[in-house]
Amino acid sequence: MNIRLFNSLSGKVEDFLPIKKGQVSMYVCGPTIYDDVHVGNLRPVVVFDTLRRFFLHVGYDVIFVSNFTDIDDKIIDRALKENKSELEIANRYIDVYNRNVENVNAMTPTYTPRVTTSINEIIKFIEELVKKGAAYEKDGDVFFRVSEDKNYGHLANIKLEDLVHGARIDENDKKEHPADFLLWKRTEVGITFSSPWGEGRPGWHTECVVMINKTFKQPLIDIHGGGFDLKFPHHENEMAQSRAHSGTNLANYWMHNGFINVNNEKMSKSLGNTLTATDFINKYGGNTLRLLLLSGHYRSPLNLTDEVISNNQKEVEKISNAIRQLAVYLQLNGGKLNKTAHINNEFLETLADDLNTANAISILFGVIKTINTKLRKPNKEIETLENLFVESNSMLDLLGLKINYPELDKNDIQLYTQYKEAKEKKDFAKSDEIRDKLIERGIL
Ligand SMILES: [Zn+2]
Repeated sequence: MNIRLFNSLSGKVEDFLPIKKGQVSMYVCGPTIYDDVHVGNLRPVVVFDTLRRFFLHVGYDVIFVSNFTDIDDKIIDRALKENKSELEIANRYIDVYNRNVENVNAMTPTYTPRVTTSINEIIKFIEELVKKGAAYEKDGDVFFRVSEDKNYGHLANIKLEDLVHGARIDENDKKEHPADFLLWKRTEVGITFSSPWGEGRPGWHTECVVMINKTFKQPLIDIHGGGFDLKFPHHENEMAQSRAHSGTNLANYWMHNGFINVNNEKMSKSLGNTLTATDFINKYGGNTLRLLLLSGHYRSPLNLTDEVISNNQKEVEKISNAIRQLAVYLQLNGGKLNKTAHINNEFLETLADDLNTANAISILFGVIKTINTKLRKPNKEIETLENLFVESNSMLDLLGLKINYPELDKNDIQLYTQYKEAKEKKDFAKSDEIRDKLIERGIL
Protein backbone atom coordinates (compact mmCIF):
# COMPACT_ATOMS: atom_id res chain seq x y z
CA MET A 1 0.00 0.00 0.00
CA ASN A 2 1.32 3.41 -0.97
CA ILE A 3 1.21 5.53 2.21
CA ARG A 4 1.47 9.30 1.88
CA LEU A 5 2.23 11.63 4.77
CA PHE A 6 2.58 15.40 4.96
CA ASN A 7 6.17 16.15 5.91
CA SER A 8 6.61 19.49 7.69
CA LEU A 9 10.26 19.39 6.62
CA SER A 10 9.47 19.63 2.91
CA GLY A 11 6.03 21.22 3.30
CA LYS A 12 4.67 18.52 0.99
CA VAL A 13 2.79 15.25 1.05
CA GLU A 14 5.40 12.54 0.41
CA ASP A 15 5.40 8.79 -0.13
CA PHE A 16 6.33 7.05 3.10
CA LEU A 17 9.51 5.01 2.75
CA PRO A 18 10.68 3.41 6.01
CA ILE A 19 14.35 3.15 6.97
CA LYS A 20 13.97 -0.57 7.68
CA LYS A 21 11.63 -2.61 5.52
CA GLY A 22 8.43 -3.54 7.35
CA GLN A 23 9.25 -1.43 10.40
CA VAL A 24 8.26 2.06 11.52
CA SER A 25 10.13 3.98 14.21
CA MET A 26 7.99 6.76 15.71
CA TYR A 27 8.67 9.29 18.43
CA VAL A 28 6.05 11.70 19.78
CA CYS A 29 7.00 14.44 22.24
CA GLY A 30 5.20 13.70 25.50
CA PRO A 31 3.83 16.02 28.18
CA THR A 32 5.48 18.05 30.92
CA ILE A 33 3.78 16.51 33.91
CA TYR A 34 3.12 19.22 36.45
CA ASP A 35 -0.69 19.24 36.25
CA ASP A 36 -3.64 17.49 34.61
CA VAL A 37 -3.31 17.89 30.84
CA HIS A 38 -5.99 19.70 28.83
CA VAL A 39 -7.92 18.14 25.94
CA GLY A 40 -5.53 19.73 23.42
CA ASN A 41 -2.67 17.67 24.83
CA LEU A 42 -4.55 14.52 23.92
CA ARG A 43 -4.80 15.43 20.25
CA PRO A 44 -1.27 14.21 19.39
CA VAL A 45 -1.89 11.15 21.57
CA VAL A 46 -5.00 10.18 19.59
CA VAL A 47 -3.69 11.23 16.16
CA PHE A 48 -0.39 9.36 16.40
CA ASP A 49 -2.01 6.37 18.06
CA THR A 50 -4.32 6.15 15.05
CA LEU A 51 -1.35 6.35 12.71
CA ARG A 52 0.33 3.60 14.72
CA ARG A 53 -2.79 1.42 14.53
CA PHE A 54 -2.95 2.02 10.78
CA PHE A 55 0.68 0.94 10.27
CA LEU A 56 0.05 -2.15 12.39
CA HIS A 57 -3.08 -2.98 10.44
CA VAL A 58 -1.29 -2.87 7.09
CA GLY A 59 1.45 -5.13 8.42
CA TYR A 60 4.26 -2.98 9.82
CA ASP A 61 6.05 -3.49 13.11
CA VAL A 62 5.88 -0.22 15.00
CA ILE A 63 8.24 1.00 17.69
CA PHE A 64 6.43 3.89 19.34
CA VAL A 65 8.23 6.06 21.86
CA SER A 66 6.85 8.97 23.86
CA ASN A 67 8.71 10.70 26.68
CA PHE A 68 7.78 12.30 29.98
CA THR A 69 9.38 15.65 30.76
CA ASP A 70 9.76 15.19 34.50
CA ILE A 71 12.13 18.11 35.11
CA ASP A 72 10.93 21.61 34.38
CA ASP A 73 10.39 24.99 36.10
CA LYS A 74 6.69 24.31 36.53
CA ILE A 75 7.29 20.95 38.19
CA ILE A 76 9.85 22.51 40.52
CA ASP A 77 7.48 25.39 41.38
CA ARG A 78 4.73 22.96 42.21
CA ALA A 79 7.03 20.75 44.27
CA LEU A 80 8.24 23.75 46.29
CA LYS A 81 4.70 25.03 46.79
CA GLU A 82 3.38 21.66 47.99
CA ASN A 83 6.53 20.82 49.90
CA LYS A 84 6.89 17.60 47.92
CA SER A 85 9.69 16.20 45.79
CA GLU A 86 9.68 16.71 42.02
CA LEU A 87 9.45 12.95 41.68
CA GLU A 88 6.24 12.82 43.72
CA ILE A 89 4.68 15.57 41.61
CA ALA A 90 5.78 13.90 38.39
CA ASN A 91 4.56 10.46 39.41
CA ARG A 92 1.19 11.84 40.49
CA TYR A 93 0.55 13.49 37.13
CA ILE A 94 1.99 10.61 35.13
CA ASP A 95 -0.72 8.47 36.74
CA VAL A 96 -3.40 11.00 35.80
CA TYR A 97 -2.03 11.24 32.28
CA ASN A 98 -1.84 7.48 31.82
CA ARG A 99 -5.46 7.15 32.93
CA ASN A 100 -6.50 9.71 30.30
CA VAL A 101 -4.47 7.93 27.63
CA GLU A 102 -6.15 4.68 28.58
CA ASN A 103 -9.59 6.32 28.53
CA VAL A 104 -9.15 7.52 24.96
CA ASN A 105 -8.08 3.95 24.19
CA ALA A 106 -4.58 4.83 23.02
CA MET A 107 -2.10 1.96 23.02
CA THR A 108 0.72 2.11 25.55
CA PRO A 109 3.95 3.32 23.93
CA THR A 110 6.67 0.71 23.42
CA TYR A 111 8.94 2.86 25.61
CA THR A 112 8.32 5.94 27.78
CA PRO A 113 11.73 7.37 28.70
CA ARG A 114 11.99 10.07 31.39
CA VAL A 115 14.49 12.88 31.78
CA THR A 116 15.46 11.86 35.32
CA THR A 117 16.53 8.44 34.07
CA SER A 118 18.40 9.82 31.05
CA ILE A 119 20.62 12.42 32.78
CA ASN A 120 23.93 10.64 32.15
CA GLU A 121 23.20 10.30 28.44
CA ILE A 122 22.07 13.95 28.25
CA ILE A 123 25.30 15.19 29.89
CA LYS A 124 27.40 13.01 27.60
CA PHE A 125 25.52 14.30 24.54
CA ILE A 126 26.04 17.95 25.56
CA GLU A 127 29.74 17.28 26.22
CA GLU A 128 30.05 15.90 22.71
CA LEU A 129 28.34 18.97 21.25
CA VAL A 130 30.80 21.18 23.16
CA LYS A 131 33.72 19.12 21.82
CA LYS A 132 32.45 19.53 18.28
CA GLY A 133 32.22 23.29 18.72
CA ALA A 134 28.42 23.24 18.36
CA ALA A 135 27.89 24.31 21.97
CA TYR A 136 29.71 26.47 24.53
CA GLU A 137 29.74 26.93 28.27
CA LYS A 138 29.32 30.30 29.96
CA ASP A 139 29.29 30.60 33.76
CA GLY A 140 27.88 27.14 34.28
CA ASP A 141 25.26 27.43 31.51
CA VAL A 142 25.72 25.62 28.22
CA PHE A 143 24.25 27.02 24.99
CA PHE A 144 23.86 25.64 21.50
CA ARG A 145 25.71 27.69 18.91
CA VAL A 146 22.98 28.28 16.33
CA SER A 147 25.26 30.19 13.94
CA GLU A 148 27.22 26.96 13.32
CA ASP A 149 24.16 25.30 11.74
CA LYS A 150 23.67 26.42 8.15
CA ASN A 151 20.25 24.80 8.03
CA TYR A 152 18.83 26.36 11.19
CA GLY A 153 15.25 27.49 10.61
CA HIS A 154 14.65 24.99 7.82
CA LEU A 155 11.82 23.09 9.56
CA ALA A 156 9.91 26.16 10.69
CA ASN A 157 10.83 28.03 7.50
CA ILE A 158 12.35 30.87 9.48
CA LYS A 159 15.51 32.82 8.67
CA LEU A 160 18.07 33.41 11.39
CA GLU A 161 18.23 37.15 10.51
CA ASP A 162 14.47 37.44 11.04
CA LEU A 163 14.79 35.76 14.40
CA VAL A 164 17.37 38.27 15.57
CA HIS A 165 15.03 41.14 14.78
CA GLY A 166 12.02 39.37 16.26
CA ALA A 167 11.05 40.44 19.73
CA ARG A 168 10.28 36.92 20.89
CA ILE A 169 13.87 35.88 21.42
CA ASP A 170 14.89 36.66 24.96
CA GLU A 171 18.00 38.77 25.38
CA ASN A 172 20.59 37.01 27.47
CA ASP A 173 24.01 38.63 27.60
CA LYS A 174 25.67 35.28 28.23
CA LYS A 175 24.73 34.16 24.74
CA GLU A 176 26.96 34.69 21.72
CA HIS A 177 23.89 35.00 19.52
CA PRO A 178 20.33 35.86 20.57
CA ALA A 179 18.94 32.69 18.95
CA ASP A 180 21.34 30.37 20.83
CA PHE A 181 19.40 28.13 23.18
CA LEU A 182 20.07 26.57 26.55
CA LEU A 183 21.24 22.96 26.78
CA TRP A 184 22.27 22.97 30.42
CA LYS A 185 21.05 25.41 33.02
CA ARG A 186 23.09 26.30 36.08
CA THR A 187 20.75 26.41 39.04
CA GLU A 188 20.44 25.66 42.73
CA VAL A 189 16.66 25.75 42.82
CA GLY A 190 14.80 22.47 43.04
CA ILE A 191 16.20 19.20 41.75
CA THR A 192 19.76 19.51 40.39
CA PHE A 193 22.41 17.19 39.00
CA SER A 194 26.20 17.29 38.96
CA SER A 195 27.76 17.94 35.59
CA PRO A 196 31.16 18.98 34.20
CA TRP A 197 29.73 22.54 34.29
CA GLY A 198 28.63 22.37 37.92
CA GLU A 199 25.23 21.77 39.53
CA GLY A 200 22.26 22.28 37.27
CA ARG A 201 19.72 20.59 35.05
CA PRO A 202 19.15 20.01 31.35
CA GLY A 203 17.18 22.38 29.14
CA TRP A 204 14.06 21.04 27.46
CA HIS A 205 15.32 20.75 23.87
CA THR A 206 18.00 18.11 24.40
CA GLU A 207 16.02 15.33 26.04
CA CYS A 208 14.12 14.12 22.97
CA VAL A 209 17.23 13.92 20.77
CA VAL A 210 19.04 11.93 23.43
CA MET A 211 16.05 9.66 24.07
CA ILE A 212 15.73 8.94 20.36
CA ASN A 213 19.41 8.03 20.10
CA LYS A 214 19.21 5.96 23.26
CA THR A 215 15.91 4.13 22.71
CA PHE A 216 16.13 3.42 19.00
CA LYS A 217 19.93 2.94 19.13
CA GLN A 218 20.21 4.99 15.94
CA PRO A 219 20.42 8.75 15.27
CA LEU A 220 17.67 8.77 12.63
CA ILE A 221 14.09 7.52 12.86
CA ASP A 222 11.15 7.48 10.47
CA ILE A 223 8.57 9.75 12.09
CA HIS A 224 8.80 12.48 14.69
CA GLY A 225 5.46 13.89 15.77
CA GLY A 226 3.94 16.46 18.06
CA GLY A 227 1.64 19.44 18.25
CA PHE A 228 2.08 22.29 15.78
CA ASP A 229 3.29 24.55 18.61
CA LEU A 230 6.36 22.32 19.02
CA LYS A 231 7.61 22.95 15.49
CA PHE A 232 9.42 26.06 16.62
CA PRO A 233 11.57 26.32 18.60
CA HIS A 234 11.45 22.81 20.12
CA HIS A 235 11.67 20.64 17.02
CA GLU A 236 13.89 23.08 15.16
CA ASN A 237 16.29 22.93 18.10
CA GLU A 238 16.13 19.14 18.35
CA MET A 239 16.97 18.87 14.68
CA ALA A 240 19.84 21.37 14.91
CA GLN A 241 21.43 19.34 17.73
CA SER A 242 21.07 16.12 15.79
CA ARG A 243 22.69 17.64 12.71
CA ALA A 244 25.58 18.90 14.80
CA HIS A 245 25.97 15.64 16.70
CA SER A 246 25.29 12.93 14.13
CA GLY A 247 24.78 14.69 10.82
CA THR A 248 21.14 13.57 10.57
CA ASN A 249 17.82 15.43 10.59
CA LEU A 250 16.78 13.14 13.49
CA ALA A 251 13.67 11.99 11.58
CA ASN A 252 12.79 11.60 7.93
CA TYR A 253 9.16 12.68 8.42
CA TRP A 254 8.16 15.46 10.80
CA MET A 255 4.44 15.52 11.49
CA HIS A 256 2.47 18.17 13.39
CA ASN A 257 -1.14 18.22 14.49
CA GLY A 258 -3.19 21.42 14.57
CA PHE A 259 -4.38 23.47 17.53
CA ILE A 260 -7.63 23.16 19.42
CA ASN A 261 -9.77 26.27 19.74
CA VAL A 262 -12.62 26.78 22.16
CA ASN A 263 -15.47 28.77 20.62
CA ASN A 264 -13.01 29.98 17.97
CA GLU A 265 -10.45 31.18 20.51
CA LYS A 266 -7.13 29.54 21.11
CA MET A 267 -7.25 27.37 24.20
CA SER A 268 -4.75 28.57 26.77
CA LYS A 269 -4.37 28.71 30.51
CA SER A 270 -4.09 32.50 30.43
CA LEU A 271 -7.45 32.81 28.65
CA GLY A 272 -9.00 30.55 31.26
CA ASN A 273 -10.75 28.48 28.59
CA THR A 274 -8.86 25.23 29.04
CA LEU A 275 -10.75 22.04 29.56
CA THR A 276 -8.91 19.31 31.42
CA ALA A 277 -8.87 15.91 29.78
CA THR A 278 -10.08 14.30 33.01
CA ASP A 279 -13.13 16.60 33.27
CA PHE A 280 -13.99 16.13 29.62
CA ILE A 281 -13.75 12.35 29.77
CA ASN A 282 -15.75 12.17 33.01
CA LYS A 283 -18.49 14.26 31.49
CA TYR A 284 -18.67 13.00 27.90
CA GLY A 285 -16.68 9.76 27.77
CA GLY A 286 -13.41 8.74 26.18
CA ASN A 287 -15.01 7.64 22.91
CA THR A 288 -16.59 11.07 22.45
CA LEU A 289 -13.22 12.74 22.89
CA ARG A 290 -11.49 10.30 20.57
CA LEU A 291 -14.12 10.64 17.84
CA LEU A 292 -14.05 14.41 18.18
CA LEU A 293 -10.27 14.56 17.92
CA LEU A 294 -10.38 12.45 14.77
CA SER A 295 -13.38 14.19 13.22
CA GLY A 296 -11.29 16.76 11.37
CA HIS A 297 -8.02 16.39 9.48
CA TYR A 298 -5.18 16.19 11.99
CA ARG A 299 -3.40 19.19 10.49
CA SER A 300 -6.46 21.47 10.66
CA PRO A 301 -7.41 23.41 13.76
CA LEU A 302 -10.31 21.89 15.67
CA ASN A 303 -12.97 24.14 17.14
CA LEU A 304 -14.62 22.94 20.34
CA THR A 305 -18.15 24.17 21.00
CA ASP A 306 -21.01 22.69 23.03
CA GLU A 307 -22.69 21.78 19.77
CA VAL A 308 -19.61 19.96 18.40
CA ILE A 309 -19.23 18.02 21.64
CA SER A 310 -22.90 17.04 21.77
CA ASN A 311 -22.88 15.98 18.09
CA ASN A 312 -19.93 13.70 18.68
CA GLN A 313 -21.58 12.29 21.77
CA LYS A 314 -24.71 11.48 19.72
CA GLU A 315 -22.61 9.87 17.02
CA VAL A 316 -20.90 7.61 19.53
CA GLU A 317 -24.36 6.55 20.78
CA LYS A 318 -25.47 5.88 17.24
CA ILE A 319 -22.46 3.65 16.57
CA SER A 320 -22.86 1.94 19.93
CA ASN A 321 -26.58 1.20 19.40
CA ALA A 322 -26.02 -0.29 15.97
CA ILE A 323 -23.12 -2.49 17.11
CA ARG A 324 -24.97 -3.71 20.20
CA GLN A 325 -28.13 -4.56 18.27
CA LEU A 326 -26.13 -6.32 15.58
CA ALA A 327 -24.09 -8.32 18.09
CA VAL A 328 -27.17 -9.40 20.03
CA TYR A 329 -29.10 -10.29 16.89
CA LEU A 330 -26.27 -12.45 15.58
CA GLN A 331 -25.81 -14.28 18.88
CA LEU A 332 -29.52 -14.97 19.26
CA ASN A 333 -29.85 -16.27 15.72
CA GLY A 334 -26.88 -18.59 15.41
CA GLY A 335 -24.57 -16.06 13.76
CA LYS A 336 -20.87 -15.83 14.56
CA LEU A 337 -19.04 -12.84 16.01
CA ASN A 338 -15.91 -13.29 13.95
CA LYS A 339 -13.11 -11.07 15.13
CA THR A 340 -10.71 -11.47 12.21
CA ALA A 341 -9.88 -8.01 10.95
CA HIS A 342 -11.27 -7.19 7.58
CA ILE A 343 -11.69 -3.72 6.13
CA ASN A 344 -12.62 -2.57 2.68
CA ASN A 345 -9.94 -0.91 0.64
CA GLU A 346 -11.60 2.47 0.40
CA PHE A 347 -11.31 2.92 4.17
CA LEU A 348 -7.63 1.97 4.21
CA GLU A 349 -6.86 4.10 1.16
CA THR A 350 -8.34 7.16 2.78
CA LEU A 351 -6.13 6.65 5.85
CA ALA A 352 -3.11 6.00 3.63
CA ASP A 353 -3.75 9.46 2.20
CA ASP A 354 -2.11 11.48 4.99
CA LEU A 355 -4.33 9.92 7.65
CA ASN A 356 -7.62 11.34 6.47
CA THR A 357 -9.64 10.27 9.50
CA ALA A 358 -12.52 12.62 8.64
CA ASN A 359 -13.22 10.64 5.46
CA ALA A 360 -12.61 7.35 7.23
CA ILE A 361 -15.27 8.26 9.80
CA SER A 362 -17.80 9.04 7.10
CA ILE A 363 -17.11 5.64 5.50
CA LEU A 364 -17.67 4.07 8.93
CA PHE A 365 -21.01 5.87 9.19
CA GLY A 366 -21.99 4.47 5.80
CA VAL A 367 -21.48 0.97 7.23
CA ILE A 368 -23.43 1.85 10.40
CA LYS A 369 -26.30 3.03 8.22
CA THR A 370 -26.24 -0.23 6.26
CA ILE A 371 -26.31 -2.20 9.54
CA ASN A 372 -29.40 -0.29 10.68
CA THR A 373 -31.14 -0.80 7.34
CA LYS A 374 -30.38 -4.53 7.25
CA LEU A 375 -31.51 -4.99 10.87
CA ARG A 376 -34.87 -3.43 10.03
CA LYS A 377 -35.49 -5.76 7.09
CA PRO A 378 -37.92 -8.62 7.83
CA ASN A 379 -35.73 -11.21 6.10
CA LYS A 380 -32.26 -10.82 7.49
CA GLU A 381 -29.31 -12.54 5.86
CA ILE A 382 -27.07 -13.80 8.64
CA GLU A 383 -23.97 -13.97 6.48
CA THR A 384 -24.32 -10.33 5.36
CA LEU A 385 -24.77 -9.28 8.97
CA GLU A 386 -21.74 -11.32 10.04
CA ASN A 387 -19.63 -9.54 7.42
CA LEU A 388 -20.94 -6.16 8.53
CA PHE A 389 -20.05 -7.01 12.11
CA VAL A 390 -16.46 -7.87 11.21
CA GLU A 391 -16.07 -4.86 8.98
CA SER A 392 -17.50 -2.30 11.39
CA ASN A 393 -15.52 -3.67 14.32
CA SER A 394 -12.28 -3.66 12.34
CA MET A 395 -12.88 -0.02 11.42
CA LEU A 396 -13.65 0.90 15.01
CA ASP A 397 -10.56 -0.90 16.18
CA LEU A 398 -8.39 0.93 13.67
CA LEU A 399 -9.82 4.28 14.73
CA GLY A 400 -9.38 3.22 18.36
CA LEU A 401 -13.04 3.52 19.30
CA LYS A 402 -13.93 0.97 21.93
CA ILE A 403 -17.56 -0.06 21.63
CA ASN A 404 -18.76 -2.71 24.06
CA TYR A 405 -21.51 -5.16 23.27
CA PRO A 406 -23.02 -7.92 25.41
CA GLU A 407 -21.56 -11.36 24.93
CA LEU A 408 -24.41 -13.77 25.54
CA ASP A 409 -24.18 -17.10 27.30
CA LYS A 410 -26.40 -20.17 27.01
CA ASN A 411 -28.81 -18.90 29.68
CA ASP A 412 -29.32 -15.61 27.86
CA ILE A 413 -30.11 -17.38 24.63
CA GLN A 414 -32.46 -19.80 26.40
CA LEU A 415 -34.24 -16.90 28.07
CA TYR A 416 -34.66 -15.19 24.73
CA THR A 417 -36.13 -18.37 23.19
CA GLN A 418 -38.63 -18.57 26.06
CA TYR A 419 -39.52 -14.94 25.48
CA LYS A 420 -40.24 -15.55 21.80
CA GLU A 421 -42.29 -18.65 22.60
CA ALA A 422 -44.36 -16.81 25.22
CA LYS A 423 -45.04 -14.05 22.70
CA GLU A 424 -46.09 -16.53 20.03
CA LYS A 425 -48.47 -18.16 22.51
CA LYS A 426 -49.75 -14.70 23.42
CA ASP A 427 -48.82 -15.34 27.06
CA PHE A 428 -48.18 -11.66 27.66
CA ALA A 429 -47.80 -11.87 31.42
CA LYS A 430 -44.90 -14.27 30.95
CA SER A 431 -43.35 -12.48 27.99
CA ASP A 432 -43.44 -9.17 29.87
CA GLU A 433 -41.74 -10.76 32.85
CA ILE A 434 -38.96 -12.24 30.69
CA ARG A 435 -38.65 -9.01 28.75
CA ASP A 436 -37.73 -7.13 31.90
CA LYS A 437 -34.97 -9.64 32.59
CA LEU A 438 -33.69 -9.33 29.03
CA ILE A 439 -33.61 -5.54 29.30
CA GLU A 440 -31.74 -5.83 32.55
CA ARG A 441 -29.09 -7.97 30.86
CA GLY A 442 -28.78 -5.55 27.97
CA ILE A 443 -30.12 -8.02 25.44
CA LEU A 444 -33.25 -6.09 24.46
ZN1 LIG B 1 10.53 16.81 21.99
